[in-house]
Amino acid sequence: MDLSIVVPLLNEEESIKELYKWIQRVVSPLNWSYEVIFVDDGSTDASWDEIVKLRSQSPEVKGIKFRRNYGKSAGLYCGFEAAKGDVVITMDADLQDSPEEIPELVRMVREENYDIVSGWKKKRFDPIGKTLPSKLFNRTVRMVSGIKLHDFNCGLKAYKKEVIKNIEVYGEMHRYIPLIAKQAGFELIGEKVVQHQERKYGVSKFGIERTIKGFLDLLSVTFISKFGKRPMHLFGALGTLMFMVGFFSALWLGISKLLSVYYYHASARLVTDSPYFYIALVSMVIGTQLFLAGFLAELVSRNGSERNQYHISEKLD
Ligand code: UDP
Ligand code: MG
Repeated sequence: MDLSIVVPLLNEEESIKELYKWIQRVVSPLNWSYEVIFVDDGSTDASWDEIVKLRSQSPEVKGIKFRRNYGKSAGLYCGFEAAKGDVVITMDADLQDSPEEIPELVRMVREENYDIVSGWKKKRFDPIGKTLPSKLFNRTVRMVSGIKLHDFNCGLKAYKKEVIKNIEVYGEMHRYIPLIAKQAGFELIGEKVVQHQERKYGVSKFGIERTIKGFLDLLSVTFISKFGKRPMHLFGALGTLMFMVGFFSALWLGISKLLSVYYYHASARLVTDSPYFYIALVSMVIGTQLFLAGFLAELVSRNGSERNQYHISEKLD
């Protein structure tokens, strides 16, 4: 199959039919074999009925319905699992992303050999309360990841099949798919300026809390990619350092006490009178704790589900 279009959606009953007709208008003249996978992420409106209706008219429509709302990442993940196309496009269901972009995105993946082509909503039609945090967000992710994209969170993206079959999106990680893909060894990531529309029906499904969650997720993504497979290198080093600082401070306190007793008979001054004693103590305790945390993390990561999951692109048997 040439093309899969994955559309995660939550309560978008008004848009689904219009979106599908639009996709059809753009894609069917191209004579590709394709499928449109609607993933209903626990909608409570008539979204699923719309999907069923569409399916009865065209066999290209596929549907997955979640029993409850799991989030956009979960929708994408299951859509990716089901996708059969050599090129996979993701887009939002709310008609903000334009299907007109599909042919060019597919061409870039096919002919220019990109692993991922990400949309860039250069001219955005969203309220300022959304565009401003988004700018800050993108700048941060650019800095941390070293990936030169302007718009990480754009719902409209195109992938080589290989990419989506080899990455795992979960939680709220859909914002970081380019980053996750890069960590899995897919480095050719391109960008295309795409048309963006105002939301036609319904309301946005993400509130202001997305900014906070987004940044926390960024921490996890970078942390896991750096130390996920070797937590001891971080915790062990920090722990040893802290412990050493504490230990030598305590040693120094002890020795100076002994010396002062020996030379000046100044036995009246207790070691515990010095604030450094407490700092040394705390430092040693924290150091030990960090070390133990590293040890536990190492145990967990070795027994965890991700053990020995390496992405192999070719094999000679
Ligand atoms: N969406 C989803 N599950 C959720 C939240 C959103 O599948 O829990 C879908 C939503 O229906 C839409 C896409 O994700 O197709 C993007 O959501 P939205 O348009 O609300 O985001 P915004 O455009 O405000 O960034
Ligand atoms: Mg939207």
